[in-house]
Amino acid sequence: MGFTEEIERRRTFGIISHPDAGKTTLTEKLLLFGGAIQEAGAVKSNKIKKGATSDFMEIERQRGISVATSVLAFNYQNKKINILDTPGHKDFAEDTFRTLTAVDSVIVVIDVAKGVEEQTEKLVKVCRMRKIPMLVFINKLDREGKDAFDLMDEVEQKLGLTVTPLSFPIGMGYDFQGIYNIWEKNINLFSGDSRKNIEETIAFDDIDNPELEKLIGAKPAETLREELELINEVYPEFDREAYLEGNLQPVFFGSALNNFGVRELLDCFVEIAPTPRPKDSDTRTVSPVEEKFSGFVFKIHANMDPKHRDRIAFVKIVSGTFERNKPYLHVRLKKNLKFSSPNAFFAEKKEIVDISYPGDIVGLHDTGNFKIGDTLTEGEQMSFKGIPSFSPEHFRYINNADPLKAKQLEKGIDQLMDEGVAQLFTLEMNNRKVIGTVGALQYEVIQYRLEHEYGAKCSYENFPAYKACWVKPDDPKNEEFAEFKRIKQKFMAKDKYGQLVFLADSEFSIQMAAQKFPSVKLMFTSEFD
Ligand code: GDP
Repeated sequence: MGFTEEIERRRTFGIISHPDAGKTTLTEKLLLFGGAIQEAGAVKSNKIKKGATSDFMEIERQRGISVATSVLAFNYQNKKINILDTPGHKDFAEDTFRTLTAVDSVIVVIDVAKGVEEQTEKLVKVCRMRKIPMLVFINKLDREGKDAFDLMDEVEQKLGLTVTPLSFPIGMGYDFQGIYNIWEKNINLFSGDSRKNIEETIAFDDIDNPELEKLIGAKPAETLREELELINEVYPEFDREAYLEGNLQPVFFGSALNNFGVRELLDCFVEIAPTPRPKDSDTRTVSPVEEKFSGFVFKIHANMDPKHRDRIAFVKIVSGTFERNKPYLHVRLKKNLKFSSPNAFFAEKKEIVDISYPGDIVGLHDTGNFKIGDTLTEGEQMSFKGIPSFSPEHFRYINNADPLKAKQLEKGIDQLMDEGVAQLFTLEMNNRKVIGTVGALQYEVIQYRLEHEYGAKCSYENFPAYKACWVKPDDPKNEEFAEFKRIKQKFMAKDKYGQLVFLADSEFSIQMAAQKFPSVKLMFTSEFD
């Protein structure tokens, strides 16, 4: 197979949802279709359960699993499908945001009874901003839930999407009979038998065919015809271009647990989902078909074995081929690096590969060379954009609790921050270190890992900040900016890249600062354009 064919057949995507909507179950069923796993239960959920906050062993176990499930790849209809795992737990939202920079499209899973939930809203907002093509899967149709039309309204309103159904349920919950596949024009009847993997569908090109009554009964047939007519009138016709531009989101209905409606979703997905997309760097847009290799690190995962402190850096290939033992330029370090055992991912296993293509993810063993966002090329000086830091919501001073282990502590903090576990801010005034996180859980993870992986001890102290605002003055030399820095002296810090940050203590002080110093822009993410 040639280079362009290899690119054409790749589909790299992420599944996003609020916890418990069915992401893990859906992933597993997709893998079953690819023949990549033989049985249900093979994909481990990597979510952290409620109440396990202080249970470190649980956290560690979960993290161990999530290395293996970071990328799940399989072949289906001669397409190479890469699913990138996105943690659903809100404390790990930043991990998910970063992973979304490496996907070419997304499937959003929604629970039919719960509708649009908080995490879904946050994640879809990020996808919308980046114009990532999205498909919506409404799950758990075997249960009583919201009316399909109401739910689509909710999706449009709460998520700001424009939807069009490509399948539609016949009844729901106790009366759930199956789905009409608008995309393929056929009917799939629900038997409730989760063991059957490949469903038999009945072609229905003409919905007025009287066979419909025989199949599902007179009343449901009438209802379905009315509903399909309404869909025809109300929703836009599916348009692939609009979907690819992020302006139209097709909706599918089904039950992941019963492996029902999943094939419909997958068959449509492989047909319409984008092949690897071009990506912007600081100098130009890079196209996947370019011969020379380029890629970027979107995730770093620590080794679980404390005796080997190496890590795995996950690289998304943007262009060209990534080859084993070939030297590549680490742009930030201005250094050539070779990788003798790059990992590729297949189903729930990883293995060493000689060559990978755009859209693929390779896992590189790293002894501390990589930070999230780093770019690798065949020599070109450029860096990929789009991995911003978001303002944390929790802030604490970190103190050294064992004076003999100061070096270990520093190294540990440094490496954990490179992994993106949390963000470090150094106060301008006194060089004290403040750790900012998305959730309180991270503080315990950091403390535990510092102790077990680096032999260092830390303690925390509250730091009264509300948000981190990256500071962007219109004119760094003007009097107003100097005045701002002087008045806010106590709250000024540098992030780990040396960018200036204002650690505001309240919404009010952000508003006051904006009023008083209009030429000093305050941003909630570290990337300004
Ligand atoms: P995740 O947190 O989004 O990964 O959700 P899971 O896949 O772990 O599913 C959460 C719960 O919902 C589990 O108990 C699943 O068995 C259940 N579940 C998933 N899909 C369905 C479905 O189609 N119908 C029903 N009734 N339950 C489902």
